[in-house]
Amino acid sequence: MITRLSAPHHEELWRVTDDASGLRGYIALHSTRLGPAAGGLRMRAYDSDEAAIADVLNLSRGMSFKNAAADLPLGGGKAVIMGDPRTKTPAMLRAMGRAIETLQGRYWTAEDMGMSPADMAEIARETRYVAGLDSGPFASGDPSPVTAQGVFNALKIGLKQRYGRDDLSGTTVAVQGLGHVGWHLCRLLHEAGARLILADTDAAKLAQSCADFDATAADVTRIHATEAEVFAPCAIGGTLNATTIPELRAGLIAGAANNQLATPEDADRLAARGILYLPDYVANGGGIINVAAEILRIETRAPWVAARLDALGTTMTRILAHAAAKDASPAHLADTIIGERLLPRAG
Ligand code: NAD
Repeated sequence: MITRLSAPHHEELWRVTDDASGLRGYIALHSTRLGPAAGGLRMRAYDSDEAAIADVLNLSRGMSFKNAAADLPLGGGKAVIMGDPRTKTPAMLRAMGRAIETLQGRYWTAEDMGMSPADMAEIARETRYVAGLDSGPFASGDPSPVTAQGVFNALKIGLKQRYGRDDLSGTTVAVQGLGHVGWHLCRLLHEAGARLILADTDAAKLAQSCADFDATAADVTRIHATEAEVFAPCAIGGTLNATTIPELRAGLIAGAANNQLATPEDADRLAARGILYLPDYVANGGGIINVAAEILRIETRAPWVAARLDALGTTMTRILAHAAAKDASPAHLADTIIGERLLPRAG
């Protein structure tokens, strides 16, 4: 069953339930101003319906900004399933697929936390409006290498702005998180001659990455305070906060993690210390560009993705230039510049 709820700042909010499979979840469409709302499906053990609704509303708004920053003809949406991902069943996924199908293409889903390409294939048995598939004519597969390429491009733009050079040889980068994106980012940085200092809560991943990239391991609780020109948060959100910011020694923050700032005030804390912060949803937009090629059924995937990545770099350059001119945080400038793209056209 799919039931419409009210959400004053969003176009649509739906509760999705299915007694047979035990599915309970939500779908939020924040904005379809630029195109169909697109954003992943997350499964998480929320404490309450209120917590699930707050998450889906917040995440779908974030997708509007991420898609607009990447200049994609897509709006912002998101879906969540309440529950531990280990309790996921094909019946649950198919029920969510049927709910997505009833929205008739106003919302497109893909993977997020707790989901895999195999889960997307299950959903695809019930709806056309799903991306992030491993096989099929336009399948986009793992977005992480493209996300890493976008972060790498952004990092070079930031290096130029902060240190007046874009040559990475001899530059030290501290990378937090060596998962799908972090590892590929390390690969690109290593190839470009950067010196790497790495941390991950997973000791095996840390040892492997240090061997792969001739890198030094750091304490996972102190990686943010490493002596380096660049700090790259590529693990979890909220790592830039009132405790860590005073301890940072890098002059540039360029990473893939979503929601790196614990609060909006943390952008001001970074600016006050002269640390250049690259807005996360612009830096990590490569992943949604990769997925968009599947949603938009782009025939010439590689050149299309490359052109969109270039455009994302131009947007980052513009945001940093405006921020420098106004002596403002790039995070706030990004919200203003990208927010304008989401306003209804005059006339
Ligand atoms: P992942 O799960 O593959 O990797 C995360 C890594 O971080 C893991 O190796 C994990 O062990 C490590 N980790 C977890 N907590 C840590 C901590 N406190 N300190 C150090 N390491 C820690 O995830 P991913 O796909 O590489 O994504 C990384 C981040 O980038 C996430 O925030 C994700 O939301 C964001 N992101 C990913 C993509 C993508 O294409 N995968 C796109 C946009 C944004």
